[in-house]
Amino acid sequence: MKAVKNYKFWFCTGSQDLYGDECLKKVAKHSQIIVEELNKSRVLPFEVVWKPTLITNELIRKTFNEANTDEECAGVITWMHTFSPAKSWILGLQEYRKPLLHLHTQFNEEIPYDTIDMDFMNENQAAHGDREYGHIVSRMGIERKVVMGHWSDRKVQERIASWMRTAIGVIESSHVRVMRVADNMRNVAVTEGDKVEAQLKFGWEVDTYPVNEIAEAVGAVSESDTNALVDEYYDKYEILLEGRDPAEFRRHVAVQAQIEIGFERFLEEKNYQAIVTHFGDLGALKQLPGLAIQRLEEKGYGFGAEGDWKVAAMVRIMKLMTSGMKDAKGTSMLEDYTYNLVKGKEGILQAHMLEICPSIAEGPISIKCQPLSMGDREDPARLVFTSKEGPGIATSLIDLGTRFRLIINEVDCKKVEKPMPKLPVATNFWEPKPNLYTGAEAWILAGGAHHTAFSYDLTSEQMVDWADAMGIESVVIDADTTIRNFKNELRWNAAVYR
Ligand code: MN
Repeated sequence: MKAVKNYKFWFCTGSQDLYGDECLKKVAKHSQIIVEELNKSRVLPFEVVWKPTLITNELIRKTFNEANTDEECAGVITWMHTFSPAKSWILGLQEYRKPLLHLHTQFNEEIPYDTIDMDFMNENQAAHGDREYGHIVSRMGIERKVVMGHWSDRKVQERIASWMRTAIGVIESSHVRVMRVADNMRNVAVTEGDKVEAQLKFGWEVDTYPVNEIAEAVGAVSESDTNALVDEYYDKYEILLEGRDPAEFRRHVAVQAQIEIGFERFLEEKNYQAIVTHFGDLGALKQLPGLAIQRLEEKGYGFGAEGDWKVAAMVRIMKLMTSGMKDAKGTSMLEDYTYNLVKGKEGILQAHMLEICPSIAEGPISIKCQPLSMGDREDPARLVFTSKEGPGIATSLIDLGTRFRLIINEVDCKKVEKPMPKLPVATNFWEPKPNLYTGAEAWILAGGAHHTAFSYDLTSEQMVDWADAMGIESVVIDADTTIRNFKNELRWNAAVYR
């Protein structure tokens, strides 16, 4: 599976010709130094490309339109070094269609008390130039990120880096194609949704294939290809026979290996990056895809269970947003399963029938074959593990009939107190913020689903910015959430998003 493109971000500095050539030379020099230093910092996940200073309507319009058509450009960073009359920006901004960051910085860090004069003041006036520019972007109602601080400050660089990943989520969203090889589970409400509206809002293509078409692709995978992958599994994972006959066990695992190869070939050939399955609609497949889906998720595919295409697309996008991240801890579909309500030990055990991505695993990963309590197929092989500790976010995109809402809950992942030797599935365990009680009450009031797209490597700020860029409502449940304020926020949002 391909990682994201070699994206770049353009750095556009605003000014005007009122100050004379000498000053404009310094403006260009300063912005070049900032771009060089940002690239040298190694904090930013993508390269910043310096662009000549923007001083006229024509050049601004031309530059934004070039950014639109340049396939490698994932966004523009703007900064008004001096005063740039903002009417010059109207046409360019009107025609611009990619993510926009307003970096509110200035070249010098400290006021040069001993030498400051009016020339210096005229050359270093982002404090008012950026306000003029910010005014027009607000008046035009354009979504953008504003980051304030000195460009050399690591915190500022980290915020730019974090926005860059959001921008990738925005740019890549319209390239997400979800393959449904099953419809949504009968009678279930929260996994449903308006696929046309999803394409209008997010750019997602959500298509259906008869399950037996993909089952045929699975059947076409040769025994030697299958056996080679089974050998790889046996090298990589612990085999937990639990009393089963080794040859019979291996045959069960081989079914999943064949599914992994067959599914991946089918998805690649037809250019899909996310998939949904349904345990009740498996056609000629001998087992519910378990281990196979877990491996595909680890390779970067989105996944949603029981036909949940919204979760499949969100998992894919969140994996793209974290693509290439150093020390990434993982991103997966999860499901709220069961609670621990013991005081001081509260939390939600996260799992699914099978399909949790091993990118979130910590410690050994083993293969088990166990009966599935639902459906009518062979006992599927699956990867079993527990997950990493630390903060993460759980997200749920729901369709409210007239609009989408993204619910984001900050959570703390923990180790469970004791092993769970009889539970044959991968798990995570977390305590939602601000605590289990308020977190779960707020989630339910917001209409959040039981399936989530979860990541250790993204923040609620990034997902809110992503939702803003998509023009949809988002709500965050975090350490500051109280039920009274949260209910009011939902009421106010209902008035705004109609
Ligand atoms: Mn489920």
